[in-house]
Amino acid sequence: MPATQFICPDGRRILIQECLTACPRKQRCMFLPTLRAVANSLNRGITEPTVTELIAGTRETYLKKTINYAVNPQDVLYALHGQAVHTINEGHTEGNILTEVRLTDAITSGKFDLYGEILDQDSGVLGDIKVTSSYKLMKALGKYKVDVPTGEVYKTGARKGEPKYKKEWRDDGVKAITDWAIQLNYYRILLEQQGLVVNKMIIQAMCRDNSLRIANERGIYQAIYLIPIQKISDQWLNLYFKAKAFVLQQALNNNRLPAICKPRERWYDRKCLDYCQVASHCQYGIELAQRYKQPLPGAG
Ligand code: SF4
Ligand code: SF4
Repeated sequence: MPATQFICPDGRRILIQECLTACPRKQRCMFLPTLRAVANSLNRGITEPTVTELIAGTRETYLKKTINYAVNPQDVLYALHGQAVHTINEGHTEGNILTEVRLTDAITSGKFDLYGEILDQDSGVLGDIKVTSSYKLMKALGKYKVDVPTGEVYKTGARKGEPKYKKEWRDDGVKAITDWAIQLNYYRILLEQQGLVVNKMIIQAMCRDNSLRIANERGIYQAIYLIPIQKISDQWLNLYFKAKAFVLQQALNNNRLPAICKPRERWYDRKCLDYCQVASHCQYGIELAQRYKQPLPGAG
């Protein structure tokens, strides 16, 4: 079941359709077209589990498919940023470029962003567009800080005689892009099933807070970064998606709540606390919120 209610700024809930028809307040909390776009982004009318739904935690996907839940429009606007950037690109795909085609196989379905001659002379480039935070980008680029000796020593104080250090960025750390890599690789498989050749997979990650000081403090100085994605074995991908689709289908058939999402799937609890739209229907999310004394997304 999709999201059926909006949470108003005063915490009250309203059916999305009622909100769109007429806001009972003196003034809407945001423009009507923005609310329509939010409603549209929540209810895409796709029944089979998509690639992104299967990559997410099975419990999260199960709850989103089986309960009526409420969202605060303010909390889901980030999804519109991504859609806006996709739409801008979609409008400029003249030439040898395919865009936003939903492909389906026996396991799942997925809509790739761009395919074709998008980067160089190679017509087999699969591109994915992400609009993300400087924090996620820092992790995705494998950036970390190290202490480097300056060659100077403290001349006075408690640390007199000790060497001085400065912080320097390195970008050869572990790249936290597993979900992106799995997603793009499955789009590659879907394209290859159509007889198309994929030579390269690249993510164009746009930083949504790149003009802020916090982004600079995270070593992010550009608005856009290109992140190459390595090939993952088809056999591994097929086993992974088949297993996740099976567990989800079993849970749906038996009306049985799946196990807590795995730590990576729930972003080591950050997703539960700040982003999971069904967290207030999940005992794990509820207990986390009590422990950290913070409201959950969708709790109103
Ligand atoms: S416009 Fe905002 S305040 Fe009005 S009903 Fe919709 S969500 Fe609530
Ligand atoms: S609150 Fe956490 S564990 Fe529960 S469904 Fe959401 S992401 Fe999964």
